[in-house]
Amino acid sequence: MRGGIEAGGTKFVLAVGPSPQEITARHTIPTRDPAITLPEAADWFAGHGVIRSLGIGSFGPVELDANSPRWGFITNTPKPGWSECDLAGFFMDRLGVPVGFDTDVNAAAMAEYAASGRAGGGLAYLTIGTGIGGGLVLDGKPVHGIAHPEMGHIFPRRSSGDRDFPGICPHHGDCLEGLASGPAIAARWGASLSDLPADHAAHAIIADYIAQACHMLFASTAVGEIVIGGGVANTPGLVERVAARARELDAGYLPGGQRHRIIRPRLGGDAGITGALMLAESVLA
Ligand code: ZN
Repeated sequence: MRGGIEAGGTKFVLAVGPSPQEITARHTIPTRDPAITLPEAADWFAGHGVIRSLGIGSFGPVELDANSPRWGFITNTPKPGWSECDLAGFFMDRLGVPVGFDTDVNAAAMAEYAASGRAGGGLAYLTIGTGIGGGLVLDGKPVHGIAHPEMGHIFPRRSSGDRDFPGICPHHGDCLEGLASGPAIAARWGASLSDLPADHAAHAIIADYIAQACHMLFASTAVGEIVIGGGVANTPGLVERVAARARELDAGYLPGGQRHRIIRPRLGGDAGITGALMLAESVLA
């Protein structure tokens, strides 16, 4: 059996299974202080048989450099109590198994890439929710560079109906996350996107920003597919609006344009935990 953890800012999803495609037990716990949440997670695994390895897809920022003494840490997160948390090390000590570790969105991207049949020249996974993040798989591997991508913090061109809102990112103001995350939508219009009427201007404005990010990804990485998950992405019609707007923005230029696809997750809400189990598998290979 392998174990997986999708470590999020509001909840930890735990699962065990003989393979990433076959989850035999799962459990969700709220994300509280690490001193409470991590032992609670370890105890759940201890009560669910012997696992040979564990995979963790975590909220970030995280340290992914295998040569760093801080590999497997959550680093400078503003989330109280979690800064400099040795997430991977805790479970290696407590469970005595090897741990595979990556961002939650890279894990989700790997799982969606596997579910796609590993075709289409790579895949990006964007989550649009409390925050905005993205993972990228090229040539079958998650992209790390010197750290990990932070796709939520690019700067889109301001939409014509949305010039005055300053944005809510504490670092950048009107970056993509500062403009199009759930809290940015609530700050602007006092409701979630799905609670606003279907003819509200917010739908086109938010779709425009996300479509710009998609165009940037298609243009700079030539991935074939962008998968959009997260709470805001559950708004009926949003992903379809994004796909249509991205085609408009491209105006027929990009060489892969006819084959670009912007879709909802094939794995639904299971992309992250499936990716975590794939990370568990990867350390046994
Ligand atoms: Zn930002």
